[in-house]
Amino acid sequence: MVVVMQAGASEEQIQNVIDHLVSLGFDIHRSTGVSQTVLGAVGVRPDFDPRDIELLTGVREVVRITQPYKLASRAFRPEGTIVKLPRGVCIGGAEVMVAAGPCAVESAEQINLIAARVARAGARLLRGGAFKPRSSPYSFQGLGEQGLRLLRAAGERYNLVVVSEVMDPSQIVSMLPYVDVLQVGARNMQNYHLLRALGVVDKPVLLKRGMSATIEEWLLSAEYVMSGGNYNVVLCERGIRTFETSTRNTLDIAAIPVIKKLSHLPILADPSHGTGRRDKVAPMARAAVAAGADGLLLEVHNDPEHALSDGAQSLHFEQFEQLMAELRMIAPAVGRSIAA
Ligand code: PEP
Ligand code: MN
Repeated sequence: MVVVMQAGASEEQIQNVIDHLVSLGFDIHRSTGVSQTVLGAVGVRPDFDPRDIELLTGVREVVRITQPYKLASRAFRPEGTIVKLPRGVCIGGAEVMVAAGPCAVESAEQINLIAARVARAGARLLRGGAFKPRSSPYSFQGLGEQGLRLLRAAGERYNLVVVSEVMDPSQIVSMLPYVDVLQVGARNMQNYHLLRALGVVDKPVLLKRGMSATIEEWLLSAEYVMSGGNYNVVLCERGIRTFETSTRNTLDIAAIPVIKKLSHLPILADPSHGTGRRDKVAPMARAAVAAGADGLLLEVHNDPEHALSDGAQSLHFEQFEQLMAELRMIAPAVGRSIAA
């Protein structure tokens, strides 16, 4: 951290800041210029609040150099992390991985139809909600454990890795036999109780970005999971709330290169929730792969017009197949590949 003192700050004020920083455990490196003093404070204090120093008399500015997250930071694993999943699936390697499926599992017939088609088109993961975090308590809430059973069976039949959302710590144990990846939804990104519980689970976590979360807050949520010992975290950019109303959310494509710089964790993009409209999903999916995403999370439905949730943003099979063909041209241009 660097503390820039005001021009003309008194020696007493400077010494007061130094004493403060020393009492917090920092080593101080002082640089005295013609009119201004700058203090370099070196130390490991992940919970430190820079505002405590900013408010001291004579301080102009405090600039934090190190990040408040450690395990999630790029410096922790400069080479990047590859999260290994069953069925030989890896996220974070050369291959761009596609997770596809309905917003919610609705019936055996529905999930089997969808699993068959997305697998044939090159998806390696099957998504489908069984516990749905719906904005309205009157909307379809998911099939619960029965949904998980159907999802798992479809995954087995079509050789797909299974991803489903966990909403509460109490659901974790019952989900473990059915899912390969536990998804934390946007609405739960800062459910620290849930994140801590997932930190001691031996299954990868797909951590979606909260709809009003900064990238730093998102990485701190990943840090919660990792600090419990579970380093298998995959991030997912799913759009944030902005003033724009043309799309359901604003898919923050720039978050992909930003995360790549700040963290070693792999990142997926979810243009389905990111746009909320199926006609906007393919362009944003193409953009996300071009921007360096390690994979995509896509909603696909056999009959989107009658889907029980998120039909408007779910792709028809033909749209999904065409998108996969396009991604196979884009991925090599950015040094990646995509399953045939
Ligand atoms: C979902 O993936 O169906 C979902 C509910 O996503 P999000 O948490 O990003 O809204
Ligand atoms: Mn959905």
